Amino acid sequence: MKKAPPRPQFRNGPPPDPGKRFWPVVTPKQNATLRVILLDNQWQSVPTHWDGRTIPCSQSSDCAACWSGRKVRWVAFTSVAMLTGGRAVLQVTGTCCRKLQKEFESEGVCRGYIVSLTRRGKTNNSPIEFSVQSRTDLKSDLPDPFSVKETVENLWGYQPHLPFSETQEPTLGGNAHA
Ligand SMILES: [Zn+2]
Repeated sequence: MKKAPPRPQFRNGPPPDPGKRFWPVVTPKQNATLRVILLDNQWQSVPTHWDGRTIPCSQSSDCAACWSGRKVRWVAFTSVAMLTGGRAVLQVTGTCCRKLQKEFESEGVCRGYIVSLTRRGKTNNSPIEFSVQSRTDLKSDLPDPFSVKETVENLWGYQPHLPFSETQEPTLGGNAHA
């Protein structure tokens, strides 16, 4: 007798919205000011190396860049709203991230603040300078913070780890993709 397929799994209401997983990545450039509204009080930091381009450090004994003596350079990401509209993932240097954290240390909250960032040096990895401008009066209308991990993984060609519910789309042949 043929084995029955899995019993259908019901969910009340419409299927979950997979949401948008990849956002534009913005980072300050020299001679230009990037203005963003911070959405999250949290950052995601990633150890990297410069190898003609930024690549992640595996932080383990098999990291070829570590073996060849390349320094670890931390980069940090958080979700922001652009003053020009839309949302993005902000990428800054580890140093800039620590300074921003310090700036908001007393209040403990950075969500809703407008930050202007620029690079003073001649290259795109020069130190970042920033100023915290003012609290937006749109604070209550701010979009929710969102996960930046999927976007960052995608920078290096990694597919996101989909939550279980998003991988459970029924398929009639072919691969499931949300
Ligand atoms: Zn490494």
